[in-house]
Amino acid sequence: MDQVIGDHNHYSSKDLAAAATLVGLGLRVQDAPASSEVYRQVKRRRSRLDELRELIRYEEASLMPIYDDYMANIRYRWAAENPSTPFRISASPAGRAILQAECIKARTWLLDLIKLHQKIDRSHTLRILRSMVEKQAGIDSRPMTELEQFYMKLTDPDEDGHDTEWDFEDHLDATLTLTIHNNWAETHKDTLERLRQVASRAPFRSLSPSQLITHRMVQKMRRTNKIDAFACAIPLSTIKQHSKEEQLCPICQNEYLDLHKFSIKDLIADYPVRMKYCGHIIGKSCLETWMATPLVDPARYPYRTCPICRVPIGKRCASDVPEAIHNHACHNAYAKKIRQERDLAINDISDGILGCISEELVVQQLMVEVRQQQLDGNLDKLKERECKEVLERSLKALEEEKRMWGFEEKDMSKMWEKVSSEWIESGAHT
Ligand SMILES: [Zn+2]
Ligand SMILES: [Zn+2]
Repeated sequence: MDQVIGDHNHYSSKDLAAAATLVGLGLRVQDAPASSEVYRQVKRRRSRLDELRELIRYEEASLMPIYDDYMANIRYRWAAENPSTPFRISASPAGRAILQAECIKARTWLLDLIKLHQKIDRSHTLRILRSMVEKQAGIDSRPMTELEQFYMKLTDPDEDGHDTEWDFEDHLDATLTLTIHNNWAETHKDTLERLRQVASRAPFRSLSPSQLITHRMVQKMRRTNKIDAFACAIPLSTIKQHSKEEQLCPICQNEYLDLHKFSIKDLIADYPVRMKYCGHIIGKSCLETWMATPLVDPARYPYRTCPICRVPIGKRCASDVPEAIHNHACHNAYAKKIRQERDLAINDISDGILGCISEELVVQQLMVEVRQQQLDGNLDKLKERECKEVLERSLKALEEEKRMWGFEEKDMSKMWEKVSSEWIESGAHT
């Protein structure tokens, strides 16, 4: 590891001409260029690492929770993946206490290490990734360093090889397991320290904070199935007026507000949204899944329909999008800048704003709900705190997002309120 961080001449610079292609990818590479296949893999792993860093930035508290079940799962995972090597820490009662202490230590070490990547020159990260990819491919015959093994585990592709739904948390858990077994938090204490020194010296070449936020927004927009243009979260008072039956998601039959059965993240994900076409209310993640399910007979039925009333859905409800949002997406300087930098269409921008409105309502409403359930004695302190942490983090992220869309200034926040309620109320009601 020392050599990877410290040594700028790890690769000979014999073929710098081809490095021009790498510059096109926005990278500063002094090394000899990698083969295109190696490069593809490095690029993929790097973007997974970027996304992990983003996830940690917003959701650190909820990642790798050191509960009993979680630690049992670490042992189970190790045994499943390494049947012939016993886990370093025994499963005896004494071992259990040791595991908890080591879990905490390893978790901190791992998070610190990933977070540091934001501060160090990108070429350091690339050098590590490239070296390990070449070793894995047999291009470089030396064994992988321990830290390369660490990054390898952290950025491995999912089994299906698709990155669209790459399971961040699973990779963090797997890497934590490996870290604990190898006791890296102890043996690589210095590595972290050295990396910190590199970070304090290195010119800041990674993404700036504002670029990171746009990056995150764009990733998010790419990942959702674009329901934001025709479905928006509803105030909880709306469903509370309805019968008990209508307080369930009609697809998965789960209660929208059951904090005992579900984590706050699940409730955020499957929060009720109302479709503008017909007014039917469905859990958001179920609607997204519904939208992602392939059409049965696209020649005869080219549109997806509402799972309840069969009205065609999926096209934009352009007439309902408040004019102010459309105008903002067209003319606001911030919105314009994102559009140009990220090569987005005006509709992408307005969908992003609509999504932000919906999410903000979700978080605000769930905050009230959590407080109410706690007051009613239905929620213990620990759970309440956990929920609040997640919600507050989401709210903070949304504030940053709003700023990026150009809704920060005083007069703008009034406008935000206005367009929000306009959008939330618009469309058909059942
Ligand atoms: Zn559902
Ligand atoms: Zn419907």
